Amino acid sequence: MQTANDLRDLLKRIDRRSYPAYKDTRGAYQFPGYVLSIDHVQGDPFAAPSRLSIHVQGRRAAFPRDLYQVPCRRVALQDELTRRFARQAARLSFQAKGSGQSGLIAVSRCGQEVLERTACRLDPASGDLLLRLEVGFPANGRTINARELEKILFGFLPRCVQASLFYREADAEGMWAAADLAEDQLYIREQLPRLGLCAFVADGSILPRASGVSDLPMEGAVPFRSPAELSVALDLPHGGRISGMGIPKGVTLIVGGGYHGKSTLLKALEMGAYDHVRGDGREHVIAGEAAVKIRAEDGRGIRRTDISMFIRDLPNGKDTAAFTTEDASGSTSQAANVVEAMEAGASLLLIDEDTSATNFMVRDELMQRVIHRDMEPITPFIDRVRALYDDYGISTVIVAGSSGAYFHVADHIIQMDRYAPRDITALAKGEAAAFPLRSAPPEPAPPPSFDRRPRPSPELRGSERVKLKSLGRDGVAVNRETVDLRYVEQLADGEQSAALGWCLVYAQRHLLDGRRTLREVVDALERLMDREGLDALCESRGGIPFLARPRRQEIFACFDRCRSLKL
Ligand code: ADP
Ligand code: MG
Repeated sequence: MQTANDLRDLLKRIDRRSYPAYKDTRGAYQFPGYVLSIDHVQGDPFAAPSRLSIHVQGRRAAFPRDLYQVPCRRVALQDELTRRFARQAARLSFQAKGSGQSGLIAVSRCGQEVLERTACRLDPASGDLLLRLEVGFPANGRTINARELEKILFGFLPRCVQASLFYREADAEGMWAAADLAEDQLYIREQLPRLGLCAFVADGSILPRASGVSDLPMEGAVPFRSPAELSVALDLPHGGRISGMGIPKGVTLIVGGGYHGKSTLLKALEMGAYDHVRGDGREHVIAGEAAVKIRAEDGRGIRRTDISMFIRDLPNGKDTAAFTTEDASGSTSQAANVVEAMEAGASLLLIDEDTSATNFMVRDELMQRVIHRDMEPITPFIDRVRALYDDYGISTVIVAGSSGAYFHVADHIIQMDRYAPRDITALAKGEAAAFPLRSAPPEPAPPPSFDRRPRPSPELRGSERVKLKSLGRDGVAVNRETVDLRYVEQLADGEQSAALGWCLVYAQRHLLDGRRTLREVVDALERLMDREGLDALCESRGGIPFLARPRRQEIFACFDRCRSLKL
């Protein structure tokens, strides 16, 4: 292995030469306490920055095994280390100067969710630590300014590494707190089924966010407090006794006046599929990890999804058992979203009337009298929601402020009253009894077919070099295909979009053969990530990009929205 001094000499030699001479810096260099690896060098100062990684041996990093042996603790520790490094890097970024991206020092920008990322990996066997970062190699115009790069590699980076990647140098308390919280969160998630719950919202939680563009907690918000009827207490492995609202399995209705906090509660449940960092306010808002937000998504493409449990006998005679369209309506898109969520193994559906197609959700009595069932292709969700639970074990939480019809089918009814939940089940059921439903019960539907076998797509193939660009939470562009994920609301991070793009690329190369079902493809991708980590998704020569692990449900959602994929 080359030494740091070798690198210093090299930098002296290439100073003031033209930019491509930077390519010679590729390689690994032993610095005091760590190895700096230059994995990919950008082609010019305006291109995507160079990719570097820092490797610290286990005995040097010296993190106690108790911090990382358990997988959930390890993910939390990796997240904590990434955030620490990012804080250091942010102060030093662009302190070295030059044209284009010169001087940039960046690692993953973590949001409020704690995710497994390629940015940082701690090997559970050896304790070895790997941290990835991007650096804009400095130039004046297109002339190498190696003195500025020297400042970064020999001045700034060692400071960042010292301050964040060695246990002895660091504020250890925060690391233990992060790992302990992760274990508490996992504990709650695992207890949910045993307690007959599909979600838990701790007392004292802060659900609303600072603004539509900030995911930080709202200041001065009304803290959450469970109604007595739904209150559950848990003894956490680390955090002591905690109480909060347990949402029972089955069908739960959230009602209340406009602006009383219904959607805010639902949104918190949606993101409760993930763990949140300390100080977020939603640390102990936990939904089963297979919770799926269902909404209308006009215009999405659908390929061979069996929506016949909701829609059949279309006037154009189209087959709804393998429904295909390039431009779905509100109701067909929402029906497809439900069935595809079932295919993805959803245990809980989360629905907000604000983002639903009305004709998919209900059909009122008067309308049923005027337009007879035979004339209506849609069996609304209200007629299927019970069977979803009774036959498939899939619970539903629905926000419905405007239709009382759901009172009849709900097991529990929660009213949001000035941001405080109240259990009004008895009251609402009493009122509902005075308005019995006269319509005949719906015909039972056979289980949907999930027999979809994706074939390779010419749009995804591209040339030898993969062109992949994350569009943040809006989607991902892979070669000639752009996948629109704007309405996949539980996508938490742009790095998840990037990982989804790599899932497509990997599947295209290794898995899509027209024989494996979509489920088998996704199973294989998940096994790969479980076994070898996210890195295994990309056979990228130019260093591993920043990726965050998507949930199984979002992998399905991505494949379902990849229009060129023939299923
Ligand atoms: P609804 O869906 O019932 O119409 P929302 O959930 O959209 O209501 O909430 C309305 C407004 O109230 C939002 O601006 C939200 O940020 C704010 N809000 C929600 N919960 C709280 C709370 N606990 N404390 C303070 N403000 C809140
Ligand atoms: Mg609302």
